[in-house]
Amino acid sequence: MLGLMQDWSMTLDKVLDHAAMNHARREIVSRSIEGPIVRTTYGDLRTRAKQVSHALVHCGVGIGDRVATLAWNTARHMEVWFGAMGIGAVLHTLNPRLMPEQIAWIANHAGDEVLCFDLTFLPIVEKMAPLLETVKHYVVFADRGAAPKSTLPNLVAYEDWIADRPAIVTWGQFDENTAAGLCYTSGTTGNPKGVLYSHRSNMIHAFVASGGDAFGLTSRDTVLPIVPMFHANAWALTFVCPMVGAKMVMPGAKLDGQSVYELLESEKVTLSAAVPTVWLMLNQYLRDTKSKLTTLKKVIIGGSAVPEAILRAFEEDFGVEVVHAWGMTEMSPMGTLCTMGPEEDGLDHESRIKLKLKQGRTPFTVEMKIVDDAGKDLPRDGKTFGRLLVRGPSITKVYFKGDGARNANGTALDEDGWFDTGDVATIDAKGFMNITDRAKDVIKSGGEWISSIEIENIAVGAPGVANAAVIGVYHPKWDERPLLIIQPKPGETPDKAAILAFLDGKIAKWWTPDDVAFVEAIPLGATGKINKLALRETFKDYRLPSAQAAE
Ligand code: ADP
Repeated sequence: MLGLMQDWSMTLDKVLDHAAMNHARREIVSRSIEGPIVRTTYGDLRTRAKQVSHALVHCGVGIGDRVATLAWNTARHMEVWFGAMGIGAVLHTLNPRLMPEQIAWIANHAGDEVLCFDLTFLPIVEKMAPLLETVKHYVVFADRGAAPKSTLPNLVAYEDWIADRPAIVTWGQFDENTAAGLCYTSGTTGNPKGVLYSHRSNMIHAFVASGGDAFGLTSRDTVLPIVPMFHANAWALTFVCPMVGAKMVMPGAKLDGQSVYELLESEKVTLSAAVPTVWLMLNQYLRDTKSKLTTLKKVIIGGSAVPEAILRAFEEDFGVEVVHAWGMTEMSPMGTLCTMGPEEDGLDHESRIKLKLKQGRTPFTVEMKIVDDAGKDLPRDGKTFGRLLVRGPSITKVYFKGDGARNANGTALDEDGWFDTGDVATIDAKGFMNITDRAKDVIKSGGEWISSIEIENIAVGAPGVANAAVIGVYHPKWDERPLLIIQPKPGETPDKAAILAFLDGKIAKWWTPDDVAFVEAIPLGATGKINKLALRETFKDYRLPSAQAAE
C-alpha cells in the first residue's frame, strides 16, 4: 500500500522561492571582484535568477545542459546557480585554482555550453578558449557596458545579458532526481572525475546540514561561506542559508586574514566555514594586530584535519566554537561533524580538545564503516585502523559518464553499495571517527602504519613553524620512514632538534620522523590541501641519514 501524501518534487528552486517569500529582505552582502561591498536580498536575488533563466533559454540551454561558472563566492554567482538549476540545467562549478589546460579538459569532458566568469579570470579564459570544444557563450560578471576588450567570441557583460529579461518563469516541474550540479574531484590520482548531484541529493544534504548538531543555523544567523562554491557547493551553505533565511556574506576573491576579519566584524557574522589554511591566516592576523572577534560564535573547519594550534586558538583564546568536519566532493560533501553530546558534558577541557581533533560522527543519512584490505569489517574500538567506506542518499553512485567504475555493473561502489573514500580511519564505540590518513599517504614502516596527518597536526604547533608535512621516504630496513618537512614562519629559523623534541611524548616513539627538511613554502593543491604528490616528487631522491646508516 502506498502512502496518500502529496507529490512535492524536491527541487532546489523551492529553496530560493521559500527564502524570497519568507525572508525577502534578508541580505546577501558580497565583496565584489571590483572591490566595493554590494548588497542584495533574497527577494531581488530570486528576481535576477529568473532573468538568468531567460538569458540561458535564449542561449538555447534546456534541461540537462551544462552551464559552467569560474567564479568566487558572490551574489551574482548564486543568481546563475539558481537560474540554471531552476530550469533543470546542470550548474558546473570550475575550479580556478587548476591550470588552464586542466580546466579546459574538465569543461570539455562536461560538455559545458555557457561559461560565466569573474573579470579577474579573463586571462585564464582567453588562454583556455582555443581548447574549449563545446562552450558557445561567454558571460563576464561585469556591469552594463563594462565587458572588457577581449579575444573571446561574443563576450557579453552579465548585466547586459540579463537586463530587460522578464522575471517570470516557471521553475521546477521536473523529477527531483534530475541532475542539478556537477563538480569534479581534484584528480590527484588519474583524471578528475565528475560528481553529478541531483536536486534530491542536494536537498536531503541541505536538510541534514542545517540540523542542530551540524551547522545549526536559523534566520538570526549571519553566515560567511569562505569555502568556495566551486569546492563541493560551499559545503551546502548556498542551499542551507536560503532554506533557513540566514543572512549571507560572500567574500569574493579576498580570503586573506585582514579581508576576512573586516567582513566578520562589519557584517556581524555568527558562523563561518573554511579549510584550515584560511584560519591559519586569520589567526596570524588577529595576533599581529591584537584584534578581537566580537560576533563570531562558530566556525566549521574541514577539507583537511584541524591543526591543534588552530583548535586551541579559536576555542581558548577567541571564544569561538570549532566544529571539525570531514567530507568529500563525492559526499555532497559532508560526512561527519564533531559536535559534543550530553555524554561529553563531563569531559575535562583537555579531553574535549582531544576529542574535537577527531572528525566526528555521521549525521543521519550517512552510514560509515571501516574494513581491512580484504574487505572484512573492523571493530569500532577507536584503535583499529581501516579503509573508510560510506553509504547514503547524497553520496556518489556513478561518476559522470561512468568514469572510475569499480565493479562490473559500472558503479563506483562495491557489491553491497559501499563507496570507498580512500581514507584510513578509526571509529570508536560512540561513533566518533578519526581520519588517520589518505590510503595513499599512510607511511608503511615495517608492516605497520604511521599516520602522516597526526604528526603534521602536532608539528604545526612547534615554535617557528608555519606549516608542516610528513611523507614516507624509502628506507632499506623499514620500507618507509617518515620525513618531516617544515615551512618556517617568516623571519624565523626553527631548529631540527627543537622540533623533534617538541614531538617527543606527543606521538609514539617509533613514529618520530627520521629527519627534518626545511622548505620555503609547502605546496598546496587546488583545494588548499598539502600537495603530497609534489612533495614526493621534490624529495624522491632524498636519502635519510638513518637509511644510509642501515645500508
Ligand atoms: P579532493 O578533490 O581533493 O578529494 P575533497 O574536498 O573531495 O577534494 O577531498 C576529500 C578528502 O579530503 C577526504 O577524502 C579526506 O582525505 C580529506 N579531508 C576532508 N576533510 C578532512 C578532515 N577534517 N580531516 C582529514 N582529512 C579530511
